[in-house]
Amino acid sequence: MAQSKTDTALEHIVSLCKRRGFIFPNSHIYGGLQGAYDLGPMGVELKRNLLATWWSDVVYKRPRMYGLDSSILTHQKTLHYSGHQDTFSDLMCDCRQCKSRWRYDHLDPKNPRCENCGSDDLTDPRPFNLMFKTNLGAVDDDSSTAYLRPETAQGIFTNFKFITDTQSPKVPFGIAQIGKAFRNEITPRHFIFRVREFEQMEIEFFVKPEESDQWHTYWVEERKQWWITQGLSPENIQCAAQTGDELAHYARATTDILYKFPHGFEELEGIANRTDYDLAVHSKDQDSISPQSKVKKNTDSTARLALQNTETKAWEIPFVIEPSAGVERGMLALLTEAYTEETLENGNQRLVLKLAAHLAPIKVAIIPLAKNKPELITLAEQIQQMLQAAILGPVVLENSGNIGKNYRRHDEIGTPVCVTVDFDSLAETASNTSLVDTVTLRDRDTLEQERVHIDQLSEHIIQRYFQYHYQPAPFIVGK
Ligand code: ATP
Repeated sequence: MAQSKTDTALEHIVSLCKRRGFIFPNSHIYGGLQGAYDLGPMGVELKRNLLATWWSDVVYKRPRMYGLDSSILTHQKTLHYSGHQDTFSDLMCDCRQCKSRWRYDHLDPKNPRCENCGSDDLTDPRPFNLMFKTNLGAVDDDSSTAYLRPETAQGIFTNFKFITDTQSPKVPFGIAQIGKAFRNEITPRHFIFRVREFEQMEIEFFVKPEESDQWHTYWVEERKQWWITQGLSPENIQCAAQTGDELAHYARATTDILYKFPHGFEELEGIANRTDYDLAVHSKDQDSISPQSKVKKNTDSTARLALQNTETKAWEIPFVIEPSAGVERGMLALLTEAYTEETLENGNQRLVLKLAAHLAPIKVAIIPLAKNKPELITLAEQIQQMLQAAILGPVVLENSGNIGKNYRRHDEIGTPVCVTVDFDSLAETASNTSLVDTVTLRDRDTLEQERVHIDQLSEHIIQRYFQYHYQPAPFIVGK
């Protein structure tokens, strides 16, 4: 088969996502809400599969990993002491000609110009805080101010004492969380790449300070390998260490995993060594803070966020390594990688989404060859029920009778395998008795067809398509 992976321009992906029910612009009927998207029936399955795989690989397959689900509404003091109230901002400028607004560091640094009208008549850059503010209860004053969290991490730090008190972990150990985060981005763009409401998959991994550089390296490699296991090609991934001004105020080192999105290489996940900064700033007793910490004295916290050394009895604050990935960016990377336009040997074109089977929204499609033959439909229904009982994820029955259309749809949404039930499957209409109780499997990627006995169907499909395997590298120190 002649294959050509054509230029996966973003518009093609956007169009596929809308046409096939992956991703819709939010509030479309009212003109759209900038920087907000909704997931349709296919998108929600893809997302749930990605999250479930991450959770299983991060939490279940490693020792001493604990889950958390903290609230989105965040206390203003949390974000005061974390530094977000003062520093979580981007530089913004306005175009005096067309009145559009730009994130200053996204413009050409040598020749900053409006990306809309090309004018260089721009205001001086000024900081714009990205946090969404809200008020709790009926009172609308400073005392009732709360925020929608700009990252899930702070909920992990403020729950540190509860988790260590209830689970008694020893370093190294990690706390994992998946959840929504909100940033009032100055210029949301590139479809779901930069949005105002998004979801993060974050780990805060607590380690001995002297081992933090090793763990940082470990997690960069682990996370890169994990994305490759999800289907991203190694040649489309780069790792870039942040330097100078790029580094956040709390970070000793940060390495970004970049993916080749349609608009170029950009951050998919960041892995930061956040030192003891966060626990120290939220801690009531800061005596044990390492001298290099740049923390402000906390006069509000009621908890000491540290671990007691069982031998020396001293209180020690661990360092933390934070792998933080965006779910929407993950989905966009997977869609970009999977989107394939092919020219078949007969000259026909097809569009196929080559998602890894464990991530595919629909696992199997059962297609009876004709819709007006009740026996075929009945058999197809029985097969659907049998497979659905054995396979995690949707197994759908397509009984429109238009097999070509069904194949096209399932190619485009990435269904790994279609099962056709035809007249040979039934005893009374089979052309050859050896074909009775067999069905045809059509492979999405190779288009190969094979005849399989219904008795062996579940096992065969599971063996061939649903053997996802990812084994994390063992912990390197402090096992
Ligand atoms: P960027 O430099 O692209 O603004 P960041 O460095 O501020 O991103 P982090 O604070 O490290 O991002 O957040 C961790 C992850 O959360 C990012 O790697 C990204 O995948 C995701 N993320 C951050 N901001 C957004 C956003 N506005 N839309 C979608 N995902 C986001």
